[in-house]
Amino acid sequence: MALFKPMDNTNKATENQQNNQDIERVQCLIIGSGPAGYTAAIYAARANLNPVMYEGLQPGGQLTTTTEIENFPGYPQGVTGPEMMEDLKNQATRFGADVRFGIAIKAELKGEIKRVTVDSNKVIEAETVIIATGATAKYLGLESEEKFKGMGVSACATCDGFFYKGKDVAVVGGGDTAAEEATYLAGLCKQVYLIVRRDEMRASKAMQKRVANTENIEVLWESQTKEVLGDNSGVTGALVVNKAGEERKIDIDGFFVAIGHKPNSDIFADEIDTDEIGYINTASDSSKTNLEGVFACGDVQDSSYRQAITAAGSGCMAALDAERFLGEKHS
Ligand code: FAD
Ligand code: NAP
Repeated sequence: MALFKPMDNTNKATENQQNNQDIERVQCLIIGSGPAGYTAAIYAARANLNPVMYEGLQPGGQLTTTTEIENFPGYPQGVTGPEMMEDLKNQATRFGADVRFGIAIKAELKGEIKRVTVDSNKVIEAETVIIATGATAKYLGLESEEKFKGMGVSACATCDGFFYKGKDVAVVGGGDTAAEEATYLAGLCKQVYLIVRRDEMRASKAMQKRVANTENIEVLWESQTKEVLGDNSGVTGALVVNKAGEERKIDIDGFFVAIGHKPNSDIFADEIDTDEIGYINTASDSSKTNLEGVFACGDVQDSSYRQAITAAGSGCMAALDAERFLGEKHS
């Protein structure tokens, strides 16, 4: 049941021309169209908040770059990423969410009415803003890596590790993520090569110990990937070169890049509290940011889990928090 009654003057296009800008007032603006944004949109629309969503450069988010998703509840046979995101979009629009193509380029979020500039001249004035802009995995930047993305090259062992059960794989990176992914994969795969560019790992001592104590992980110290090798069927190996310039070819089916993520929070960073990497800080058990009426959900505020289902769960939290905020404001 919808708890919140929409204000008379919102959403329905208070389109003004001011300084050559289109200005539109909405109750709830959602930035980003991944699982977090769409779940927020479903909840916000069903609560009569008339949400407007801007999809950004990657409509549907990160999952549109993957084929099979087997760990999202509700799809017993698995589902492709694009198909699942289309389902989420249809569910959100069915309840009236207004989904638009556009990129937020500037955000002024401190005041009671938040102003977000979309593309070059559209300004959305919003009572609440839900930030669901996700995070982007960093890659090495090799042409061969790009070529085999989704065909053996992955940035998510929890997502794709299962497809390499009993096979040999490599993980690149020396941080906690690489250590965690290597030990996770070691439980599934025959052999894991961990490619570390320095003579020590950045990962915590505890994680390093786990790596060292896992028999089927071989660490290739002071090594960099020169080339990801493959054919029409996908990745078949990698060419690794060490500090002395010696090359070694490893035979692998999966190449996991774990060199960090970049949360897409740059345009909010002047006003919103983040950690040192850029993940938006939210209050515990909540999606509230340091600014009233501004909520964050999904990978942009989650350096730990980074899964579609956790993003969706936090999107639900953000919509409920926005609904409560507006309910209290207008009571
Ligand atoms: P994202 O999906 O990252 O979406 C962010 C959205 O924000 C995008 O729509 C983007 O266009 C938009 N955006 C960004 N900046 C702006 C802006 N300035 N203005 C407007 N919009 C903006 N998880 C699983 O649970 N299972 C899996 O099998 C799985 N497989 C994966 C495979 C791959 C290859 C990758 C990369 C990830 C995978 N994940 C998987 C992780 C999962 O995709 C993420 O955890 C999830 O997508 C995060 O959702 P999100 O909504 O927070 O952000
Ligand atoms: P990170 O700590 O930034 O580590 C990135 C690693 O990738 C570093 O070892 C870095 O090498 C390496 N690297 C970067 N660019 C590279 C390149 N071009 N080629 C080869 N290697 C490259 O990132 P993270 O591991 O994703 O961790 C991010 C944060 O999350 C950290 O604070 C971490 O502690 C936390 N985290 C915690 C846990 C946990 O507690 N269980 C799990 C995962 C993540 P250099 O060391 O040489 O710079």
